[in-house]
Amino acid sequence: MVVKIDHIGVAVSNLDESLKLYTEMLGMELGGTESVEEQKVRVAFLPIGDTELELLESTSPEGPIAKFIEAKGQGIQHIAFRVDDIDAALAELKAKGVRLIDEKPRYGAGGARIAFLHPKATNGVLVELCQRG
Ligand code: ZN
Repeated sequence: MVVKIDHIGVAVSNLDESLKLYTEMLGMELGGTESVEEQKVRVAFLPIGDTELELLESTSPEGPIAKFIEAKGQGIQHIAFRVDDIDAALAELKAKGVRLIDEKPRYGAGGARIAFLHPKATNGVLVELCQRG
């Protein structure tokens, strides 16, 4: 079902400061930024080989990233696994009785189709399934 790690999502309170850290301290390059209104986030992509780091800054105190930081502080928020067919993957997980946050895929940053599994189903790890192209 899972092909590779598509990206790792990191919650940050200040996107520009975090970008500086990753680009200046670690020499990584900014692949692009994007706002995802539905998720109330501003996202920056930092490609690493064939995967990437996704920095997420909340654009609203009500957003999921703001709530995450409030509860746990800045840090790794989710791991995104690439799948070839997200509809088939969700159907298979549903058939296995896996608890899902998203029963149906929605659009995430970069035009990807994404869906989150419930962290209770994965021992506390917020897993995102991600299909591209
Ligand atoms: Zn993500």
